[in-house]
Amino acid sequence: MRFVNYIYNMKQSIGIIKNNKIIPLEHILNRPVESMMTVIDEISIELIESNLNKEVQGINLEDVKILAPIEFPRRNLFCLGKNYKAHALEMKGKTTDQVVIPDKPIYFSKACHKAIGQGDVITGHVGVSEQVDYEVELAVIIGKEGSHIKKEDVYDHIFGYTICNDVSARDLQVEHIQWHRGKSLDGFCPLGPVIIHKSVVNFPPDLKIECYINDELRQEGRTSDLIFDIETIVSDLSRGMTLLPGDIILTGTPSGVGMGFKPPKYLKSEDIITCIIESIGELKNIIK
Ligand code: MG
Repeated sequence: MRFVNYIYNMKQSIGIIKNNKIIPLEHILNRPVESMMTVIDEISIELIESNLNKEVQGINLEDVKILAPIEFPRRNLFCLGKNYKAHALEMKGKTTDQVVIPDKPIYFSKACHKAIGQGDVITGHVGVSEQVDYEVELAVIIGKEGSHIKKEDVYDHIFGYTICNDVSARDLQVEHIQWHRGKSLDGFCPLGPVIIHKSVVNFPPDLKIECYINDELRQEGRTSDLIFDIETIVSDLSRGMTLLPGDIILTGTPSGVGMGFKPPKYLKSEDIITCIIESIGELKNIIK
């Protein structure tokens, strides 16, 4: 099941993509569905599935504006640093921390006032940062509250997955000896285009993950290459800290970020960034 947050005829709605058309959830369920959080908090997948055969008029994908699936995350995003080996190696000596390959997960948080969606413009923040970079990541969406989640119970706490571009101001990361500010500028959280329900892919997901800048392939990997896998991350992060429905965990980025090149290849105005994860889709944005 693929969930989408969209605007059609000036109205924002949540739908399911079926046969290349959007089926509005409120028509399937005969109840209002205000946001993706309504789906995650209140609606069972079984209920949706049992109503999917209803005759409901679909909407053509090209007739809608696709928004970030969760536009206003309830909390900062939880992020993993250096969670693909090749990326950890390319960052060696370039950031302020000394760790090359971590033996414990590196966490940081990304504040997100509003996540941007498919086709939206990433603000380049010229004058604030001169080193804006891209990071394609598999984002895990938590579906059920929990703390001290055992590894074998992690699947039960996941709602689904989406794509995030963890846009990063490298100069701010270095200047402030901390990643939070450089990751949290307005518009630095492109998300989407859809959330796939966890049942769409095997667990743990082994999906091709890529990022193109214009027509150039920069990042390439598989989500099974994570140093700390999803079971480890969710289980470890939830030790003594409650995870909530709607929490978003960015699992880290593969190698090929702009900072890793010699000389670095930071984003410039009008670059088109396309983040692709197999089975989820393509998240495309332009920077200005
Ligand atoms: Mg990242």
